[in-house]
Amino acid sequence: MPQPQVELRSDTFTTPTAGMRTAMANAEVGDDVWGTDPTVDALQRKCAELFGFEAALYVVSGTMGNQLALRSLVQPGQELLCHQEAHIVTYERGAAAVHGQITTRTWGGEGAPTVDLLEKMLRPPGFGTVQTVAIAVENTHGGLSGSVLDLDRLRAARELTMDRGVAMHCDGARIWNAYVAGGLALSDCGRLFDTMSICLSKGLGAPIGSVVLGTADTIARAREMRARLGGGWRQAGILAAAGIYAIDNQLERLVDDHRRAKILAAAAGVDPDSVETNMVFVPTDDAPAYVARLADQGILCSATSPTMVRLVTHLDVSEDQIAYAAGILAAG
Ligand SMILES: *Cc1c(COP(=O)(O)O)cnc(C)c1O
Repeated sequence: MPQPQVELRSDTFTTPTAGMRTAMANAEVGDDVWGTDPTVDALQRKCAELFGFEAALYVVSGTMGNQLALRSLVQPGQELLCHQEAHIVTYERGAAAVHGQITTRTWGGEGAPTVDLLEKMLRPPGFGTVQTVAIAVENTHGGLSGSVLDLDRLRAARELTMDRGVAMHCDGARIWNAYVAGGLALSDCGRLFDTMSICLSKGLGAPIGSVVLGTADTIARAREMRARLGGGWRQAGILAAAGIYAIDNQLERLVDDHRRAKILAAAAGVDPDSVETNMVFVPTDDAPAYVARLADQGILCSATSPTMVRLVTHLDVSEDQIAYAAGILAAG
């Protein structure tokens, strides 16, 4: 029997399903730079409505989505606060600093900041200080085991920041996982955040694409900045069709990914109750050796630190593959 290959490195490894490919092949297209691609328009309208925002912009990546949103909120020389493990400050190659001339300061601990923490960190305009004008949160939080942010804390943070004239951005690359895990109504996001970026190409399974959400004015400016970066695209409806298909057909199935992550956790000796979404973090003495040992048995995962291994479930991992991987993990 050929050895199975189980891809657990990331939920970005998903490939378009047959239904998705059909939707892409049949997509009506135009020239999105001219604003005449009906499928891109449909995706943008759909996302704006779903999340309770005025407007939306389809972009090539989550990084571009985050950066366009942040630059619409924070001017050169102003400050953004976020978590120290946020994607924005760890995986975006310093984009906020390089392109946006944005100063960042970070907090540790939990993903959603308390009012107390914000009271201490927010800097008003004043002589010699850098003014804090925005904070960014990440939901789910990839750097914190794929955990779902506490909604009450977010609401309290929103109240305080609004009172101080500070904007709030959400890196919602995996907001779908937070939604499926329960408690978060997608349509509330527009009230909670000034801007948000969402990803279609992770667990949802579209090949490419993210969407930035905000007010009509913010999105108009984001569109201008996108063009300046060379991010205008033409018959993008072919890709947008995959995004629409993913939301309509591959969102609710994320519960399977979450259930399967718990199965892997239990097998690997991690408390399944600590797994909130589709990521399992396994502490070990020697993460590279652990990764190599699993790779020998056809299971691909990654080391996030010398002593931590990450396993991520997604659309392209079958129930059988989970059972196989669980068997290997349980055998130690
Ligand atoms: C994947 C991801 C992004 C965007 O990544 P791209 O590779 O640029 O699409 C942004 N934020 C988080 C939390 C992510 O996991």
